[in-house]
Amino acid sequence: MLLDTQANLVLDQKVDHFFDTQSKYTYEEYIHKALQYVMSYLDRDHFYPGEVCDFEEKKQLLTPNHDETLSLHDTLEEIKELYLDHTIAFHNPNYVAHLNCPVLLPALVGDLIASSVNTAVETWDQSISATYIEQEMIRWICNKMNLPSTADGVFTSGGTQSNFMALLLARDDYAFKHFGLNLKENGWSDVVSKFRFFCSDKAHFSIRKNAALMGMGYNSVIPVETDEKMKMKVGALVQAIEKEKQIGNIPIAIVATAGTTDFGSFDPLDTIAKIAKEYNIWFHVDGAYGGSYVLTDTHRHLLSGIKEADSVTIDFHKTMFQPVCSSAFLVKDTEHFKYISYYADYLNPLEHRDEDCPNLIEKSIQTTRRFDALKLWFTLKMTGEKNISAFLEKVHYLALDLYYNIKDDVFFELAHKPELSTLVFRFKAPGIVSDVLHDNINLHIKNTLFKSGQASVASTKFNGKTYLKFTLLNPKSTIDDLLNIIQMIKETGKTYDTNNQH
Ligand SMILES: *Cc1c(COP(=O)(O)O)cnc(C)c1O
Repeated sequence: MLLDTQANLVLDQKVDHFFDTQSKYTYEEYIHKALQYVMSYLDRDHFYPGEVCDFEEKKQLLTPNHDETLSLHDTLEEIKELYLDHTIAFHNPNYVAHLNCPVLLPALVGDLIASSVNTAVETWDQSISATYIEQEMIRWICNKMNLPSTADGVFTSGGTQSNFMALLLARDDYAFKHFGLNLKENGWSDVVSKFRFFCSDKAHFSIRKNAALMGMGYNSVIPVETDEKMKMKVGALVQAIEKEKQIGNIPIAIVATAGTTDFGSFDPLDTIAKIAKEYNIWFHVDGAYGGSYVLTDTHRHLLSGIKEADSVTIDFHKTMFQPVCSSAFLVKDTEHFKYISYYADYLNPLEHRDEDCPNLIEKSIQTTRRFDALKLWFTLKMTGEKNISAFLEKVHYLALDLYYNIKDDVFFELAHKPELSTLVFRFKAPGIVSDVLHDNINLHIKNTLFKSGQASVASTKFNGKTYLKFTLLNPKSTIDDLLNIIQMIKETGKTYDTNNQH
């Protein structure tokens, strides 16, 4: 009899690449070999070799192989050349550009286990103990923030996704409570066009971007002025809310930032919480950057108002030294997750709902989701809260120290005194008054240092002018490391040829 199945097709024995009982020793060997390459990456003495890598030349390496497969050794050699030798090393003290933290070893162990076992945290029957671990990590951070016992949360891919969830829940809750609308079921309603969010003019761009993704447009987000410390002006907030009401719009939520991306400034959460309560609108705190500072003695008081928040964003992959992704979205009342829950027959049918066996998919906008809580669990067990707090205080003091070191230097103009761990400043060439020229010089400094592989510094705009930015997240950096970059900035700034460039 001829069978139309090929189920007993013999597989290529050479590529027994599945993680299973038979491959146990291959797994050990592979991880071991890969580690050698990661270790050689750690032996690099530069954060980046500069623009010496010609990817055009390496096109061959970039494309997947069709017929021929490579050994692990050859593949590792290729990735060394393509990536490990050239990529940006965030643990290097000369990397001070963005919110990329050096990562902790316990977190890497957690991540290896999570990736290998490959638990998808979605339904109970797929996750079981991972569900408990994630829930426990959520409970831990909710308690640190003094959120009420009704609080809950879920791990997300990052602050952007957490902020998206915040705006969505705020919108759907307002529409339901005030207009009896069920946007989840029925979709858009014209009145939603009048809904307005309020955040400071230093808030993260993901607030506007998410509002646009939700069909409400950038213009549904009203920017509120900030003071000289880059904090939202509460008087201006009330004025903005009143103004929108006057023209017939409907304020539905205030987004306060706990640690702005550029300046690390904290909006006055306590006062904003009261204003949100007075207007009976949603209060979200974007603590992507500063939320972790709730662990510290230095900054806890700045976060005391967070206990009043309806929702909170926190990024463990920024300020808890976790590998990407590790982030959470928290809500004051777990009921609010109903605005995104979906009951699928094949995964989590409503009739089988059981409080004791929760399906975390009901709190997430993702379906298949990584077990990112495991690396945080490892970190809290092995590194511990107190040490994380000490790391955070250290990077804050580094920023302050740097501030005091350069504040009276004639070559620099500072935008602010650091409240967290960033410092925004610009190089000033003595005798030059033109702001445009200074913009060019500062960009020239940033680009020259990056291209030559000396240092990576960020740039940003402040009052329309170009500034440089240090984001300090490496507690093992020293003030001398930072002053060394400052020296490079000065030297590069001084050599800028003002006659030949515009
Ligand atoms: C970084 C940041 C975000 C975005 O977080 P991702 O994890 O990059 O998506 C949101 N808000 C603030 C204040 C941030 O600093």
